[in-house]
Amino acid sequence: MELNVITNDYDASKTGEFPCISCHTNCCKEYVIFVNAHDIYRLSVELTMEPESFLEIYGAKDYDLGIKVKEGLLDLALKQKDSRCMFLEESKDVFRCTVNDFKPSVCKSYPFQMKNGRLIQMSEKMCPVDWNTKEFEVMMKTHLKKDKDEWKFYDNLVLEWNAKNGIKKPLAEFLKFMLDRVVLEFTRTDN
Ligand code: SF4
Ligand code: SF4
Repeated sequence: MELNVITNDYDASKTGEFPCISCHTNCCKEYVIFVNAHDIYRLSVELTMEPESFLEIYGAKDYDLGIKVKEGLLDLALKQKDSRCMFLEESKDVFRCTVNDFKPSVCKSYPFQMKNGRLIQMSEKMCPVDWNTKEFEVMMKTHLKKDKDEWKFYDNLVLEWNAKNGIKKPLAEFLKFMLDRVVLEFTRTDN
């Protein structure tokens, strides 16, 4: 399957077409998509699915921050099906994200990342597009700020859980604790 290659500082305003439309979404096939509390909340509410039905657990030994539960030290990611994200759907050789409106924050930011307070394109990205970083930053300003806050919220939540519960409780209890805290945060910010 050929990937369309669009390079040289891609500018959507010049071509009129968003490059992901003509790409075969290799990003959704190659990466493990790690998710935070808000990602899991949005997916479970919008899909009316239990988090366990779309979450895959990974051993977190290579990561600074892992969830300490009975099952071990874990990280949470989206499940895969046929070696690609379970939410990627193919129809007549066209791929689409079936959860596009509430897809995880890392999917929205790809192929960019923040490094030392600056937005940069990931160095080992497999995306064929050389995006216009400035344009992306302006377009995604609100999302990037929200993304940063949500990961911070999640990291603090895991730290709090780990300090209180050690390895005594099962993952299901962590998921409940996590979703309750997201709901509580929404209640607070609504008032
Ligand atoms: S972000 Fe890049 S790799 Fe992913 S679908 Fe768009 S063009 Fe393709
Ligand atoms: S959630 Fe959507 S955008 Fe993210 S990897 Fe899956 S199919 Fe791709």
